[in-house]
Amino acid sequence: MILPPRGEAETAAIERAWRRIEPLALYPRPLDTSRVRILHVPWLFRLPWFRRFDGYTIWSTILLREPLDQVDESLPAHEAVHVWQGQHEWVRLWLSYVKPSTFWGDRSGYYENPYEVEARAAVDRTQAGARNGPPHPVDS
Ligand SMILES: [Zn+2]
Repeated sequence: MILPPRGEAETAAIERAWRRIEPLALYPRPLDTSRVRILHVPWLFRLPWFRRFDGYTIWSTILLREPLDQVDESLPAHEAVHVWQGQHEWVRLWLSYVKPSTFWGDRSGYYENPYEVEARAAVDRTQAGARNGPPHPVDS
């Protein structure tokens, strides 16, 4: 796939997302931000599988339903956690999502996926004013 070069706003968003989740030290190695892309692909989210998501991460590529300048900062941060997870244990990560129970019936299987739990917690803990966890870098 040929992608347009990474733009300034995109690079800045990736750096902000990383600085936000970095203090949580979830994984031993830092996120390799040089490989991360954030792409706005509205058509993708009209497909049945993707309709339920606002963001979707494949390897180091974060796909967004809305343009980057219109999404809450929490979304790139959440997806950046998934990139970070994938850079450390991609086999377990992908296996956890292909388990049939993940998408059967209601959404609870997906919601309770440990990687989803971790990504949501990372965003919650780094929300401005959060009490449980390292302070958001801009709070200090
Ligand atoms: Zn997620």
